[in-house]
Amino acid sequence: MKSKLADEVQFVKGVGPKWAERLSQLDIKTVRDLLYYFPREYEDRSQLSQIKYTKIGEKANFKVEVLKINYQKIRPNLDLLKVSFSDGSDVVNGIWYNQAYLRNQFKEGDQYLITGKISEKNWRKYKRKEINNPVYEKIGSEASVLNTGRIVPIYPLTEGLSQRRLRKVIANVIKNYGSLLKDQLPRNLLEKYQFPDLKTAILGMHFPKNQKHKNLSRQRLAFEEFFHLQLYALEEKKKKTKFKGIKHEFKQSVNDKLLSQLNFELTAAQKRVLNEIEADMGSEKTMARLLQGDVGSGKTIVAALALLQTLANGCQGIFMAPTEILAEQHFLNFQELLKDFDYKVEILTGSVKQAARKEIEAEIKTGEIDLIIGTHALFQKALTYQNPGLVVIDEQHRFGVEQRHSLKEKGDSPDLLIMTATPIPRSMAMLIYGDLDLSVIDQMPPGRKKIATFWRRENRRKKIYSFLEEKINKGRQAYIVCPLIEESEEMPELLAAEELYNNLKTGFFKNNKLALIHSSVPALEKKEIMEKFRAGKIDILIATTVIEVGVDVSNASIMIIENAERFGLAQLHQLRGRVGRGSYQSYCILISNPRGEDATRRLEIMCKSNNGFLIAEEDLKMRGPGEFFGTKQHGIDDLKVASLTADQELLAKARTEAQAIVELNNWQKKYNQLANIIAQIELKI
Ligand code: ADP
Ligand code: MG
Repeated sequence: MKSKLADEVQFVKGVGPKWAERLSQLDIKTVRDLLYYFPREYEDRSQLSQIKYTKIGEKANFKVEVLKINYQKIRPNLDLLKVSFSDGSDVVNGIWYNQAYLRNQFKEGDQYLITGKISEKNWRKYKRKEINNPVYEKIGSEASVLNTGRIVPIYPLTEGLSQRRLRKVIANVIKNYGSLLKDQLPRNLLEKYQFPDLKTAILGMHFPKNQKHKNLSRQRLAFEEFFHLQLYALEEKKKKTKFKGIKHEFKQSVNDKLLSQLNFELTAAQKRVLNEIEADMGSEKTMARLLQGDVGSGKTIVAALALLQTLANGCQGIFMAPTEILAEQHFLNFQELLKDFDYKVEILTGSVKQAARKEIEAEIKTGEIDLIIGTHALFQKALTYQNPGLVVIDEQHRFGVEQRHSLKEKGDSPDLLIMTATPIPRSMAMLIYGDLDLSVIDQMPPGRKKIATFWRRENRRKKIYSFLEEKINKGRQAYIVCPLIEESEEMPELLAAEELYNNLKTGFFKNNKLALIHSSVPALEKKEIMEKFRAGKIDILIATTVIEVGVDVSNASIMIIENAERFGLAQLHQLRGRVGRGSYQSYCILISNPRGEDATRRLEIMCKSNNGFLIAEEDLKMRGPGEFFGTKQHGIDDLKVASLTADQELLAKARTEAQAIVELNNWQKKYNQLANIIAQIELKI
């Protein structure tokens, strides 16, 4: 039978069924999996020392000859193997307890490489140089040197596997199957970047000849990972923009009319991104654009102006928000903004009752409704739009990829604008959202005061409440956010929103108007509470993270977050972004007795910085991309070698090269192996 990379590991030399079972715990099922099972780190054991000049207590590598082998039983269940090694400069003993089976491994006169630490304890006790359990490897046998005398791979292991044996198995596999590895990187790229071919790179990941071999191998494989994802994303983008979209005609007059209604001027950044959006909308190709802007940078008005253009062109506008509260708020906001225009604005969320829903759905279909605002409910299969011109999705970080895809299928390719408050470096955005164009609002509206952020321990609560009382007496409003709704037996240390509400209502704030809002409050009630809060009829809103994104009440200037250690950086920044939206000095108070370094670090970063960009970068560093972006985002989980944070230069190169290929006519013909890989990525995503 011909061997293949897809062969099961249990038929590999050195693996039997028992080992195959253990390897499967590491998700290693085939020969290919083994080849791509990369070390977690390396230990450089390539530098040889002389025994005589090596300090006691120091770890070193020696090239030695076996002088003498001594095996003795000390007690019934204790035996000792002592092998004396010499490198010509001095002698060192290798010491093994209860490993009698090793006795026959060594033969006088044989040459070995050994690695280990010359034991301080034994030196003090016996005045002898000894190494307990040295790593050893015979020289001159037909097997290659894997465990010492070189840069040695250290693999993540599981119960019952040893580094030694795994190294041997992988080395065998490279030797016997390596030639089956087909290089998929175009030759000109290999040459241009002086990358090693695939087999050399795989070898370099496991058993590098030297640091350079290791680094080049890693770079090549990281480049390749980025390159594939970019090819996929850019091809998607090309497909998308091939659709004929709606060519919007820019209507200056409606634009001016809306702007004149505002009591502020657009910032330069808002104007710039608006130009970018309008240029796309005015072109024949479909827009697919990501609008990035920190919390409070004013994305909504940009979306409103773009939507107004689509309405003025006789098309429907669709605006999707991640939560009902937010949809409701945008609905009120848009009604107000468009009150002097003759457009019908409606809201559709999961909690709209059947009869009303039927009516709204019918009016969407006939085009009676011009602008429809809502949640996921807007993308049920049954819904048909009359002639959608622009779809806006707010706060993209809450949405998975599927929604984005299901959206594409609504109507004849309307323009698409996705808004996110998670600012990530541009090159990274290009990978995650590589199929989108990017606009960035990198400037805050003028006159915003920095939100003063403090971290206080729980024993300071009284003082915090007095401070809050003082602000409320001046007419301000506040949020207090808790991690849980109800008390939980499993997490008794966490303050629950209900408990806090009951305490404060009858205690410290008994003379104030308080309200409680969380996910199990019925939608209608939620709506009423938010209306009252907006109207200033509630002083303190006690809430869970239902208010996390987008809520915009400019008179609310104090945000208190209970058990702040429970929240991630992005979430804390979002929550804090609920205040600082008006001209009042705003405050964010993080109440927390953190356990652990990570939590403390998060609190410190929050106190130090108001800048969402910096915070996102810290967040990414602390949590890693998998968690930061959510699991299913765009194959990032498949990055085994490449690092989104450390390899940004490679990422940029990979994008340039992928772009050059995608621009070729019919590139799939010339590079059909690459085309196959892209097809596989598509299936997975
Ligand atoms: P986000 O980008 O977080 O969605 P919003 O669109 O909710 O931010 O805007 C935050 C607040 O800033 C809103 O109250 C909005 O009216 C106001 N705003 C937006 N643009 C400007 C501007 N250019 N000048 C002053 N205030 C602005
Ligand atoms: Mg917003």
